Amino acid sequence: MSVLALDEDFHVHSAFSDDAVSTVADNVRAARERGLRTLCVADHVRGDTAWVPRLAAAVAACRDQPGPRVLAGVEAKILDTAGRLDLPPDLDGIDLVLIADHQFPADDGPAHPDRVRAALDAGELTAAEAIERLCEATGNALRATGRGRVLAHLFSLLPKLGLDEAMVPGPLLGRLAEQTARAGAMVEVNEKWACPSPRTVAAMLRAGVPVVAGSDSHHCRDVGVYRSVRLTAGRLRRDGLTAGGPSEDTGGPA
Ligand SMILES: [Zn+2]
Ligand SMILES: [Zn+2]
Repeated sequence: MSVLALDEDFHVHSAFSDDAVSTVADNVRAARERGLRTLCVADHVRGDTAWVPRLAAAVAACRDQPGPRVLAGVEAKILDTAGRLDLPPDLDGIDLVLIADHQFPADDGPAHPDRVRAALDAGELTAAEAIERLCEATGNALRATGRGRVLAHLFSLLPKLGLDEAMVPGPLLGRLAEQTARAGAMVEVNEKWACPSPRTVAAMLRAGVPVVAGSDSHHCRDVGVYRSVRLTAGRLRRDGLTAGGPSEDTGGPA
């Protein structure tokens, strides 16, 4: 198994998402043309989303054809520090839940990044507190569903708050990686948001977390097209990291 395989795409939107245009079949066709092994069509849901059975059926209809293994997914935001997800109750036929940091998960519910940024600027909240709460909420969100889970574009929220992933303390990152491994969840390296950083991905790999690529495409022309993900994969390879953990040539005890 190679580091962060580039012939898979675990994060593709279809027209079930408000802001995407291609059908499930268009995306599957694009994936087949690009020789992808795996495609996960994952659309944005909220608690009251009613079309999940139709998405699952559209994906199921593409499964008997030659080409990539096709998975059905939903992308749901973390609502609060307790880690509740904005997820409809019926997820029959859904393989993966993509857990997303679209809003800041505050104690009392999702907060717009601009509001949190203003609170940081006003000194009402410290950067360390914001980062700690985001990590806590993300760790808790891993327990919000028993389905297959992927941490999608982990830490994409931080630049929107004027913060940087490098500010996440090592022990906090290590703890989140342990929680992710224990939950049996995966981490996505996201093309659109160019995150998480190689440092974060390395921490996840060391904890034994599977790391997968996602384009976050909203049009089928972008399925499986990677630039920033490719750079991250190259960096991990140079650092001697493989998908199962550090490779044997990194100087660890035999
Ligand atoms: Zn997202
Ligand atoms: Zn997305």
